[in-house]
Amino acid sequence: MKISLKSEPAIISLVLFFCVANAFAQQNVGDAARSKPGQMQPVRIEVDLRDAPRHIFHSKLTLAVKPGPLTLLYPEWIPGEHGPTGPISQIAGLKFTAGGKTLAWRRDDVNMFAFHLEVPAGATELSVSLDYLSPGEGGQFSASPAATAKLAVLEWCLVTLYPQGARSDDISYSASLQVPAGWKYATALPGGQGASGVIEFQPVSLTTLIDSPVLTGEFLNKVPLGQADGVVHTLDLGSDIPGAIELTPDELQHFKNLVSEANALFGAHHYRHYDFLLTLSDHVTGFGLEHHESSDDRTAERALSDPDLFNNFADLLPHEFVHSWNGKYRRPAGLATPDFDQPMKDELLWVYEGLTQYLGAVLAAAVFAQYLYNVRGRQWGSWRRSTDFYDESILIWLEADTIIRRESKGQRTLDDFCRSFYGAPSGAPAVKPYTFEDVVAALNQVVPFDWRGFLRMRLDATGEHAPLGGIGNAGWRLSYTDKLNGYQRSMEAADDLTDVRFSVGLVLKHKKGDKKDGDVLDVIPGSAAGAAGISPDMKLIAVNGRNWSPELLREAIAGAKGSSQLIELLVENAGAFETFKLNYHEGERYPHLAREASGADLLTPILSPRASGK
Ligand SMILES: [Zn+2]
Repeated sequence: MKISLKSEPAIISLVLFFCVANAFAQQNVGDAARSKPGQMQPVRIEVDLRDAPRHIFHSKLTLAVKPGPLTLLYPEWIPGEHGPTGPISQIAGLKFTAGGKTLAWRRDDVNMFAFHLEVPAGATELSVSLDYLSPGEGGQFSASPAATAKLAVLEWCLVTLYPQGARSDDISYSASLQVPAGWKYATALPGGQGASGVIEFQPVSLTTLIDSPVLTGEFLNKVPLGQADGVVHTLDLGSDIPGAIELTPDELQHFKNLVSEANALFGAHHYRHYDFLLTLSDHVTGFGLEHHESSDDRTAERALSDPDLFNNFADLLPHEFVHSWNGKYRRPAGLATPDFDQPMKDELLWVYEGLTQYLGAVLAAAVFAQYLYNVRGRQWGSWRRSTDFYDESILIWLEADTIIRRESKGQRTLDDFCRSFYGAPSGAPAVKPYTFEDVVAALNQVVPFDWRGFLRMRLDATGEHAPLGGIGNAGWRLSYTDKLNGYQRSMEAADDLTDVRFSVGLVLKHKKGDKKDGDVLDVIPGSAAGAAGISPDMKLIAVNGRNWSPELLREAIAGAKGSSQLIELLVENAGAFETFKLNYHEGERYPHLAREASGADLLTPILSPRASGK
């Protein structure tokens, strides 16, 4: 999963703090055995999205049952979301009927996701109807806003129940989907025979159903991205307006390169075809969710036409695509759970998400190395830390890559690890779980080294700075200048930010005319702003006695350089006004990577394409 690209991030600094890459979320499901959906009669699921523009998804399930007690579960631990994020509180209209009668049901006292009922004597079939209320705002990940007047994204976990005790690989579901008149659809789910707006799919395991979301809408553009070993890749673009789903020739080439580069890197694949389901809408929440044969990718409406938005979004598809190998096929043993209600263990997310983030950045050739400083949080994000094991792991895997190159005298690279760990043989989706020891053993096969010691040090010890060893090994160093780097400039434009955290220690909302303009999103502890007493949730009103603007703030920071003049910030704090005086005289400061005077440059070969030109 990759979290929002267009929410309100405060940006925090890897450079100021380094603590443990604390994997704290969780993931799910054995996707194996798709080919044997079990002996039970398939559960019938009929989803009706004709009310999706009203944010309501209707669902009807029909199950073969026996008389007696029965417990049905709503999916709680969502694969790829790494936590118990199933939106149980968004379910309404739950009704069970059997033998022509409505059945009484009771929610479990402890497990809010479990429903108990008694199937009456003589009944062989149970009908369940339920509605999922898709939120207009808020919600998390797949349970965030997913429907507009013109499109909807259906993750089947939102509208499904299943019998307690069943392994998701062993229980078969036969799905149908009704969409609003004139809407098209895209999905990796097999079958897809449509008639009068009702689409019928082939029966699949519950694992595969939940692994195969649907993008549907009035405006849908299916773009072929080429084949690898005869396997087809498609980019399916949906948006609220037709103009947002057209690709420029450069963009098309960028996505085609992604397919060829990833296949060149891993040397094999674990899907029968691949669909990037890309939603470009300002009314759904930006994020990405990985699946074996598709990804649910959501970003801003203008991401293909605004260069800053495109830069900000450039690594989303690479990240989710890499997950087909790293996360879906090879999966930490603690995340390969048999159903959607057993808790997941996350201690190996630094491989699952961290290596994916690293490879996603390397595969997104548009992203330069300033990318390494992209860490997001909210209030006090840099102090309390966030899901920044994603980005901090980039540094750990970069260091691992440079160690492999050094120890093998340039003969091996991290690509060799990827090929042996995630590669051959190609085939249909499967799951091959791994442990920490498996990772160590695979790295030792590439080149002998104290990998256990290195990784345990990076994962368990804390240090004063981010782990910058890989940058140094690659012949580069972190330096600061008074010029914004290109990546920060795109981030500021795409996310409406002003980022002066490396100088006075502030990240501010900047959106002229918006009531949030001037909001303090983050303060770096120990910075001039932090020492003066400014904290997140305050609002900047004026700089040195004049209405604030990013230009004025930056001029004030530059103007105080080398002088004794204090920077005066008038700030509103819940209706009260106060002037804070910042004692800061070092001028503007932004991070850059600079070449070391000596030593080989390894970053350039790491970021270079493998397959292009073939
Ligand atoms: Zn991810």
